[in-house]
Amino acid sequence: MIQKFDALILGGGAAGLMCAIEAGKRGRRVAVLEHADQIGKKILISGGGRCNFTNIHCQPGNFLSANPHFAKSALARYTPADFIALVDKHRIRHHEKTLGQLFCDGSAREIVTMLEEECRAANVTIFLNAKIREVVRETEFRVRTANAEFSAPVVVVATGGLSIPKIGATSFGYDLARQFGLKIREPRPGLVPLLLAQPDCSRYCDLAGVSADVIASCDGQQFCEKVLITHRGLSGPAILQISSYWEKSLPVKIDLAPGRPVIDSFGDPKVTRNITALRSELRKILPTRFADRWLDHHAPAAWTNAALADFERQVHGWSIRPSGTEGFEKAEVTTGGIDTDELSAKTMECRKVLGLYFIGEVVDVTGHLGGFNFQWAWASGAAAGRAL
Ligand SMILES: Cc1cc2nc3c(=O)[nH]c(=O)nc-3n(C[C@H](O)[C@H](O)[C@H](O)COP(=O)(O)OP(=O)(O)OC[C@H]3O[C@@H](n4cnc5c(N)ncnc54)[C@H](O)[C@@H]3O)c2cc1C
Repeated sequence: MIQKFDALILGGGAAGLMCAIEAGKRGRRVAVLEHADQIGKKILISGGGRCNFTNIHCQPGNFLSANPHFAKSALARYTPADFIALVDKHRIRHHEKTLGQLFCDGSAREIVTMLEEECRAANVTIFLNAKIREVVRETEFRVRTANAEFSAPVVVVATGGLSIPKIGATSFGYDLARQFGLKIREPRPGLVPLLLAQPDCSRYCDLAGVSADVIASCDGQQFCEKVLITHRGLSGPAILQISSYWEKSLPVKIDLAPGRPVIDSFGDPKVTRNITALRSELRKILPTRFADRWLDHHAPAAWTNAALADFERQVHGWSIRPSGTEGFEKAEVTTGGIDTDELSAKTMECRKVLGLYFIGEVVDVTGHLGGFNFQWAWASGAAAGRAL
């Protein structure tokens, strides 16, 4: 028997659930088809289990997309304040951790429970373990899962990106877009640790766990946050942020001492210029083990002004050529996705295939680290949900 709805939402993650709630509130009969055994699995593991659910400083500039204007309309019509109002309505206690990032005081589970309750109130039907086999378009869309068949005039694809396949990420959204002849910008891992190439890897990776405040820059973007040395390369917020902009041919520059000159004191003729004095200066800025290791490999060639200036330049411009990233297994998001030229910025509906919508991470809109990806999921979900 075919089950008929006004709208079928494929994927019960952040974007799909928000879309379902908004459409359900407007009286649409909505079904969410989720292939996992529970909804919102990514929400549950997000923000270290506390879900960084939005960012109060959210601006269009916090998003990457081939069309930087595309996200503006949806972001303006569903703002962080709208989501905070929902969270407050459900009495979920939260706090600002840093840089406008809002986290639950308790657990990310509260956000999933909130979305479940909102779905219930909006009469949304959720089908779990619904692995989608086929989507075809006749007069309406027909969606077949392993053991059921659905039809609706509208299908919303909210199946997310490729990051963290072990909790259910699939290429489904991209495959479906291809099936309907839509353009896709190459999906790549974003917000992901970088792998250090040799010789840097053997020089620094045994310092795994050491972190420092830096500015990481690449491709005209820069982030002033922490870098963390890992067993295979570099991570930490500064590196995760810059990874979304990194491409194989590009170097990443790291200022290891932002705004802090290292050799200033050597301008005083009374100060002895030697490795002990320089080590002591560098240790004021970098963690001891990193400072010492840096000097092992970048000690000034001489104690002349020119050699010291060169040393200073290197500290502020460590240029690394990553050998790659930790890949989708470790990436927090997927950059690229359904080309925004294919979609209406107001409703997320495909221009070529009316009734077909794409929302959330599967679209070529990717947020910076810090709650922006959920804000895009809520905003794009709401934009579509209000148009159904
Ligand atoms: C470890 C980690 C931590 C994160 N922390 C944060 C954070 O704190 N703040 C933040 O803003 N962002 C965070 N993110 C990013 C954020 O989780 C995503 O950007 C967001 O979940 C995207 O929402 P979405 O609904 O588009 O996709 P998802 O939330 O991934 O939802 C997609 C849903 O579709 C389902 N699905 C997939 N394929 C199929 C199929 N074929 N059939 C049926 N269902 C299918 C999936 O099971 C999933 O439930 C984090 C990501 C990770 C991996």
